[in-house]
Amino acid sequence: MKSYRKELTFNTPHRRDYVNITDPVEQAVRDSGVKEGLCLVNAMHITASVYINDAEPGLIADYDDWLEQLAPHEPISRYRHNNTGEDNGDAHLKRQIMGREVVVAITAGKLDFGPWEQIHYAEFDGRRRKRVLIKIIGE
Ligand code: ZN
Repeated sequence: MKSYRKELTFNTPHRRDYVNITDPVEQAVRDSGVKEGLCLVNAMHITASVYINDAEPGLIADYDDWLEQLAPHEPISRYRHNNTGEDNGDAHLKRQIMGREVVVAITAGKLDFGPWEQIHYAEFDGRRRKRVLIKIIGE
């Protein structure tokens, strides 16, 4: 069985950003040489997510509005987590809703997506260096 590991790094310009990472994940699949297997992609931080959905800009804006309604960044004082001196209580909750990781089947050397599926990195506490792990196994 082949095994391949790669990290992607991000330093997004805003507190919250949404980055389509489908291309670098597809590149990792090519680099792995795996034709039949599984590709795991996970955020390595507890204030960011990796999720699969449409890359349509209106939908991404809808996600951001929805998450901000569920867990507004401000007032900072509404989160007990921020009593630690941090200001990212909302980011932990947003990450939980949007998830930690995705797993995509690899078939004939390609990510075996359904219609319109794209892999996104969702940042909820950005403006600093963060990482995503890609792990690919198979033959
Ligand atoms: Zn925190």
